[in-house]
Amino acid sequence: MNRDTSSEDMVLRVLYCGIDHTDLHQIRGELISNTKYPMIPVHEVVGEVIELGSDVKKFSLGDIVGVGGIVGSCGECSLCKSNLEQYCSQRILPYNDIYKDGTPTQGGFSSNMVVHQRFAVKIPEKLAPEQAAPLLCAGVTAYSPLKQWMGSNKNVQGGIMGLGGVGHLGVKIAKAMGHHVTVISSSNKKRKEAMEDLNADVFLVSTDEDEMRKAANSLDYILDTVPVFHPLQSYLSLLKTQGKFILVGAPQQPLEIQAGVMIAGNKTVTGSFIGSMKDVQELLDFWAGKGMTTMIEVVKMSYVNKAFERMEKNDVRYRFVLDVAGSNLE
Ligand code: NAP
Ligand code: ZN
Repeated sequence: MNRDTSSEDMVLRVLYCGIDHTDLHQIRGELISNTKYPMIPVHEVVGEVIELGSDVKKFSLGDIVGVGGIVGSCGECSLCKSNLEQYCSQRILPYNDIYKDGTPTQGGFSSNMVVHQRFAVKIPEKLAPEQAAPLLCAGVTAYSPLKQWMGSNKNVQGGIMGLGGVGHLGVKIAKAMGHHVTVISSSNKKRKEAMEDLNADVFLVSTDEDEMRKAANSLDYILDTVPVFHPLQSYLSLLKTQGKFILVGAPQQPLEIQAGVMIAGNKTVTGSFIGSMKDVQELLDFWAGKGMTTMIEVVKMSYVNKAFERMEKNDVRYRFVLDVAGSNLE
């Protein structure tokens, strides 16, 4: 059932949803926000506007819009006022959270969804809706921290760790920003596709100590998308002096850092959460403008359990997108 609508809300007919590893963490209660059941998971929602509140000015009936990693925030704090609403202390997640009216929020495995106009973005006409879905969370999770290097006239050397949903978009975005891109992967299996399909410049296997040693001090940043425990030591050594290690993957267990390498190299470890609504719209326009494509496998709802199983086994190239409108939800 949908929550009550306000004058700034819209009702969407859900068309497609991307499946993010965060959804798997949420289903299993692996995140700091405790999972409350029953829960309807999944964000990265693309839908068609079928009902408009009287004060909705940004959108029209029939528009194709996207909803990503948050659906609310206070709107008044300094973070909300400076396009950093994803860090607002009152941000509201698309599911497994409580909306302002006290009702639980529910995600995209649903025929309809209600969203406030501030937390929706317009999908550019040039982008197919299923193509756009992974950009709404995974894409912006890479775009938002990487855009600090956009337009740099230095030859930026970037590293992307974990070639999954977030990782493959990270490689594409970093390449489109003109960076020299090193993929750091847990095995050799994705070498050919990383180099040929994603146009990466270097492919490193993290268990190959020799390869890792040779690449020491080569990177300005590393975007770490790995969802399971991994000690950070060997990866931090890949950073140049003053390099930045950006955590976006969210393993449940604490990660290990040795102080020496951080101190001697004046390195930074930081985290980043999705991106602002402004970042999402910017990314969609950047993506459509450059004619870029996401690499997805579109499946029906009847396949969803198998899709989660395959995601857990690291067997997806590189994002499942559910055809919600084309599935039988009864
Ligand atoms: P994904 O599609 O499952 O990709 C994860 C990648 O990590 C895999 O493709 C794999 O790449 C690597 N990996 C290494 N060891 C693995 C193992 N034992 N099992 C599975 N994968 C392993 O996940 P995703 O949707 O990109 O999400 C990645 C992480 O980012 C998750 O923890 C998710 O919760 C988090 N996330 C955070 C934000 C944020 O705002 N910070 C937003 C979205 C997602 P290789 O084969 O190359 O090693
Ligand atoms: Zn706020």
